Amino acid sequence: MASGPDLRTQVGIVGAGPAGLLLSHLLAQRGIDSVLVEDRSRAYCEARQRAGVLEAGSVTLLREAGLAGRLDREGLEHGGIYLQFAGERRHLDFQDLTGRSVTVYAQTEVVKDLIAARVATGGHLEFEVSGTEVADLDTGRPLLRYTTREGTRTEVACDAIAGCDGFHGICRPSFPAGLLTAVEREYPYAWLGILADVPPSTDELIYAHHAHGFALHSLRSPLLSRLYLQVEPDDDIAAWPDERIWAELQTRFALPGWELKEGPILDKGITPMRSFVSSPMRYGRLFLAGDAAHIVPPTGAKGLNLAMSDVAVLADALAGLLGGDPRRADAYSDTCLDRVWRCTHFSWWMTSMLHATPGADTMEAALQLAQLRYVTTSRAAATSLAENYTGYQPPR
Ligand SMILES: Cc1cc2nc3c(=O)[nH]c(=O)nc-3n(C[C@H](O)[C@H](O)[C@H](O)COP(=O)(O)OP(=O)(O)OC[C@H]3O[C@@H](n4cnc5c(N)ncnc54)[C@H](O)[C@@H]3O)c2cc1C
Repeated sequence: MASGPDLRTQVGIVGAGPAGLLLSHLLAQRGIDSVLVEDRSRAYCEARQRAGVLEAGSVTLLREAGLAGRLDREGLEHGGIYLQFAGERRHLDFQDLTGRSVTVYAQTEVVKDLIAARVATGGHLEFEVSGTEVADLDTGRPLLRYTTREGTRTEVACDAIAGCDGFHGICRPSFPAGLLTAVEREYPYAWLGILADVPPSTDELIYAHHAHGFALHSLRSPLLSRLYLQVEPDDDIAAWPDERIWAELQTRFALPGWELKEGPILDKGITPMRSFVSSPMRYGRLFLAGDAAHIVPPTGAKGLNLAMSDVAVLADALAGLLGGDPRRADAYSDTCLDRVWRCTHFSWWMTSMLHATPGADTMEAALQLAQLRYVTTSRAAATSLAENYTGYQPPR
């Protein structure tokens, strides 16, 4: 563009998921302006069913940013989980083990709150853009380009760009060839998730180990339940009519004297399970955060929380960099990857303990049951699970 950039901002942000939205707030609090672009509509972002468990540290972060008004009113604080196996359901009391709890508050609600607060304070958010590109990343003036919903090609000159555009975004592929190292594992199963219009049948999440495969009873509100079934990785949702889903959930959660309540299914889908870590998380003036850099299987409830902890580190790193002190920006990737790998291990460990691997021998199920008995009888083992689940922060 011979005429030069159309806009100027300090930080260009790609993606209006939890990472990009929260970053825009944390930067504004530090007096840093941003332009955030998103290729989906606002309604789509607000309705996308995903995570629902916030670590204690994520709740504190939102509270300190003044973004937890509705979360504090409507979030459901949970002091533990149930592990069900071999016909028994055992409780792990996180409060007793670690003094910490988690909060059940749907990602849809986090995203709605973050968008509403940003719109209310006049933040520059653009939905339904197309053709997003980032360029000149190894200079002090990187460029963000996109076409607005109205069809105007726009170029924004930035001091830095945050790639918060998820696993399938354009920022990670914009790194120069050969710079990134990606470590990946695909699991031989997937999760079929439903959102059901029925009050939860449980007071805490139930993680169930069963010969048919794993099942999870999660919650979204006092009136809405979220439930998951382990299915084949190539399973087709059309092969799972509502009656079949409920019948399989009834089988995997069955416990004498306890009843799983059924209701209309509002949303259902199948999600593949993957562990993925790409490093480094920075090239020049482009910084990746959240799912753009790493993915964990959802068994440990970590993806949303990692996205939020990345941008907490990034906001300080960018404030330093733009103020002339690059030390935190230089340490950004290593600082985040420490916690990313801890969560990657925990998510893999929970996944391996609870899922039935297709074709596995009887030894595997016996080892899983031995591990489940250990974490529900040894205080040391239970504390390790609780510490990771509620949010372990490696020392810096
Ligand atoms: C079914 C499911 C269940 C899950 N359960 C849990 C859970 O219980 N606990 C948990 O912690 N995590 C869970 N996760 C993971 C969690 O939802 C993600 O880790 C989280 O959404 C990551 O946030 P993010 O902002 O990094 O990425 P995203 O939420 O993926 O946001 C990225 C955004 O970038 C946008 N974008 C992409 N490309 C472009 C482009 N070219 N231009 C502009 N915008 C672009 C996308 O539309 C999207 O809005 C779950 C995920 C799924 C799919």
